[in-house]
Amino acid sequence: MSDEKKIVLTGMQPTGLLHLGNFLGAAHNWQKMLDQYTCYFFIPNQHAITIHQVPANLRHATLNCVAQYIACGLDPNRCTIFVQSHIIGHTELAWILGCLTPLGQLYRMHQFKDKSAKNESIYSGLLYYPILMAADILLYNADFVPTGEDQRQHVELARDLAEKFNTTYSETFTIPMPLIEKTGARIMSLKSPECKMSKSDPDSSATIYITDEPKVIQKKIAAAVTDSGSKISANPKYQGIANLLNIYCAATEITLADGEEKFKTYAAYAPFKKEVAEALIALLEPVQKKYQAIKDDKKYLQSVIQKGSETVQPIAHHTLSKVYRKIGFLER
Ligand code: ATP
Ligand code: MG
Repeated sequence: MSDEKKIVLTGMQPTGLLHLGNFLGAAHNWQKMLDQYTCYFFIPNQHAITIHQVPANLRHATLNCVAQYIACGLDPNRCTIFVQSHIIGHTELAWILGCLTPLGQLYRMHQFKDKSAKNESIYSGLLYYPILMAADILLYNADFVPTGEDQRQHVELARDLAEKFNTTYSETFTIPMPLIEKTGARIMSLKSPECKMSKSDPDSSATIYITDEPKVIQKKIAAAVTDSGSKISANPKYQGIANLLNIYCAATEITLADGEEKFKTYAAYAPFKKEVAEALIALLEPVQKKYQAIKDDKKYLQSVIQKGSETVQPIAHHTLSKVYRKIGFLER
């Protein structure tokens, strides 16, 4: 058996401050993988522009995302962090994969339906997004793609496209697997618990950002929408309270069944909400400390992504050359 480490690749869009869903559904799990896998974490800024971004904000959010990754425990000495647009290969491979993707498959993507319903102007980049994501994954022959539940369908498309390319031409791509945790994989909005918590949600009271101060966390959790009742249940019928219980369980790393058991004697929501807030404050304290220490150190953050580019560009180049050769593009 080969003792080469398996490859993990994933990323978060620089579309705003990271929130609890990004942390519990993603980054908190990623930092546990650093020793077991070869880890590539990237900043998908080419994905971010599928929705209009103010250039100065995007520039700031990209470097800030690097700081937040590191604050969440992604130690750059044990993994590779890079910016998507710095690497030649992502958009090139996306074009080729796009030529293998039926249009109907893209129109069926949940994220396209959700985001196109929320935005007045819909551009083709939003429809094309899952193909670019497939290219991100396949370019590095990733074995595993840790994500939240919302990205499962996109990883499925990457698998389909890898298989299609391999059978149309010859064995080229690793078939990637999604890695989705049971708790934390779908954290819902505190104000509309039928929708997922999102960076791009303009209502900041619906979202807990990883940089929120203790007082803000207490206030937001206290004001979170719940049902009229008092039972602390994971039953999705009680959307608001089930979401808070899911948050508590993911934050304290216990199962939903253990969470229900712990709170079964609680007769009201207020003391439960207080415990949820306390668990979050404790969870985010070390992240916030680290973030404050590095967020303005541009030189350091730039050096991290520079090193990242140097590590991954040769890999991307190698895959792309192989693909070009197989599909019949003349070598230069
Ligand atoms: P945007 O609204 O701009 O799409 P987002 O909040 O959905 O932002 P992404 O950058 O698209 O965040 O996703 C980064 C990672 O966080 C992905 O792995 C995604 O699956 C995960 N994620 C996003 N939202 C949630 C959520 N509410 N619960 C759990 N995981 C989530
Ligand atoms: Mg998203």
